[in-house]
Amino acid sequence: MDRRRFLLALAAGLAGTAVARGGAGLGDAVTPPAAAPPPAPPAPLQAIAPRGVPGVVPLPPPVGVVDTIPGEGASLALTIDDGTSTEVVAAFARFAQDSGVRMTFFPNGRYASWQDNAPLLRPLVESGQVALGNHTWSHPDLTTLGDQEVAEEIRRNQEFLRTTFGVRDTPFLRPPFGAHDERTDRIAADLGHPTIALWDGTLEDFRVLTPEEVVAAARRWFNPQTIVVGHANHPAVTTVYGALLELIAERGLRTVTLADVWATPGQRVRGAAASGRVATG
Ligand SMILES: [Zn+2]
Repeated sequence: MDRRRFLLALAAGLAGTAVARGGAGLGDAVTPPAAAPPPAPPAPLQAIAPRGVPGVVPLPPPVGVVDTIPGEGASLALTIDDGTSTEVVAAFARFAQDSGVRMTFFPNGRYASWQDNAPLLRPLVESGQVALGNHTWSHPDLTTLGDQEVAEEIRRNQEFLRTTFGVRDTPFLRPPFGAHDERTDRIAADLGHPTIALWDGTLEDFRVLTPEEVVAAARRWFNPQTIVVGHANHPAVTTVYGALLELIAERGLRTVTLADVWATPGQRVRGAAASGRVATG
């Protein structure tokens, strides 16, 4: 079997698993909540996480905007926002679990999907396969808010990330709609998010797409050193995970989290000193 056929077979095998598990997840969503195991308290992330990808040496998180992965390489950063749908968040979590794909989520804490899926996501966060950034609590256009309201949107979501996933600090803020200015960037930096994480590729799923349209967007944007934005909102993407894996394999891409690319020394060496501090300003 040549390399291409091997990769396709590999991707197809993983795809079968991901789709099957994803389907089961959608069915699970209608079972009574009483059947779910009680959520464990969030583990202290700082004490556990073995992080990183061989050959990817993290840079210090810059102050200001990032919208692409610097340097040469074959890295692809999938970044998934919002989470309006519990079923779609569950499917993404199972996709990550089954495929080993590294990704970054930017949740809005106001959506119950994250709490609903925290038991599934937490081990992925603890292992470093999934990284988290702040996308504000309720997804407003920050540039339309006063200083206090901007700070409150950021702080409330920080608290949610801490209590739900044990994440005490992340340098990344993704402003909703990509809308930001010098003032909102300064407030974010003061609250512990110096790095405004935008993107240079997209699944184009900020609107409702067909599965074919999602794959077409991936074909267009899954390229080396690209940060791709997608959304855990509409189910079309959950039906094409196999095709996404195939594309990643065909193009020789390696998935990374934003924390694989940029991390502060304190995040790399997660010890007792870091765990005692809550970077909520
Ligand atoms: Zn968003």
